[in-house]
Parts: sequence; C-alpha cells; structure tokens
Amino acid sequence: MTDCIERPMETFDVAIVGAGPAGSSCAAFCALDGLRALVLEREKFPREKVCGDCLNPSSWGVLRRLGIADRARQLPHAILSTVEFIAIGGQKVIVGLPSGEESLRAIKRSLFDALVMSRARDLGAQIHEETTVKSAGRSGRPQFDSGAPLQFTPAARA
Ligand SMILES: Cc1cc2nc3c(=O)[nH]c(=O)nc-3n(C[C@H](O)[C@H](O)[C@H](O)COP(=O)(O)OP(=O)(O)OC[C@H]3O[C@@H](n4cnc5c(N)ncnc54)[C@H](O)[C@@H]3O)c2cc1C
Repeated sequence: MTDCIERPMETFDVAIVGAGPAGSSCAAFCALDGLRALVLEREKFPREKVCGDCLNPSSWGVLRRLGIADRARQLPHAILSTVEFIAIGGQKVIVGLPSGEESLRAIKRSLFDALVMSRARDLGAQIHEETTVKSAGRSGRPQFDSGAPLQFTPAARA
C-alpha cells in the first residue's frame, strides 16, 4: 500500500502568473490590502531577463509605496542624464532627464526583479518558483505543474 501524506489545502484570493515586476508588485499590493495572494513563477529567481534595464522615473512613486525605493537605489546601477532622438536625416533632439533621487537608472533586471519579488514575499504573498502555469482552466482556476494543494475563494474564481 502506498503511504499517503495529506497536506492541508491552502486558500487564496488572488492567483498571479509570473513574478516579474508586474506580477510581484501586484502581489505586494494585494498583500498590503490583506488579500491572500499566490504567485506562480516558472523560473527560479534571480533569473535573467532581456531588457534595456532602464527604470522609468515614474516608477519611483510605486517603489516608495512598496517600501523599496531606497533598496532599489542601492542596487548597482548607471544613471542616464539625457535621451537622444535621431531622425533618418541626422537631425537630433536631446532631452534632459530628471536628476537626483528621481533619476532614470539602469538596474540589472535579475537584481531588480528579485528585490520586488522578495518584497512581495515579505509582505505575505506566497510565491511558488519553478512552477509553470499550463492553462487558466474553464473554471478560471490555474492548472500548473506543481503538486501543491491549492484552492481559490469564489471571488478569486470569478
Ligand atoms: C530588448 C528589450 C528591451 C527593453 N528595455 C526596457 C527598458 O529599458 N525599460 C523598460 O521599462 N522596459 C523595457 N523593456 C520592456 C520590459 O522588459 C517589460 O515591459 C517588462 O519586463 C514587463 O514586466 P512584466 O512583469 O509584465 O513581465 P516579465 O518581466 O517578462 O515577467 C514575466 C514573468 O512571468 C513568468 N512566466 C511566463 N509565463 C509563465 C507561465 N506560463 N507560468 C509561470 N510563470 C510564467 C516569466 O518567467 C517571468 O518571470 C524591454 C524589453 C525588451 C524585450
């Protein structure tokens, strides 16, 4: 006879696919609002992401609300002071960018994304790495390749 170890079923209000900046910040804000958030991420963080790595200055307000603006500033970075638009004819427009704390910074995505994900986790979101979502399912429940027993509240399924 096979031994059967029963694990308690966990219940979530929100299921999020992907722990990039969108998924992790969404999970963090859900957790701040008292929702039980689950994030399913196929990779193990830190993971590489093809990107120009430039953090738009309008992101700083969001990072402040998440309580990680200072930690993001401490990550290794380059500061961009201008952006240059060059027309096919060679004409140029150079636009100055904000300086100081609200500057446009390039931060390696593996580091930045891991920071946002760990903040979501610290705030109480449950994050399952190395878990690939296969489909959302007809009921709206995600189908994924992990044996974790999970269920969702009716609001989460709606
Ligand atoms: C070449 C290039 C340069 C760019 N340069 C910039 C830039 O300088 N500045 C800027 O702001 N933006 C830039 N972008 C855009 C930026 O990379 C994206 O807008 C940003 O990554 C989107 O964040 P996200 O959280 O939505 O998705 P992602 O960062 O792509 O995260 C999605 C996550 O979902 C996971 N996932 C996917 N499918 C599944 C699944 N089925 N199950 C479980 N997990 C899954 C992935 O592993 C990933 O971790 C660039 C993009 C490219 C391609």
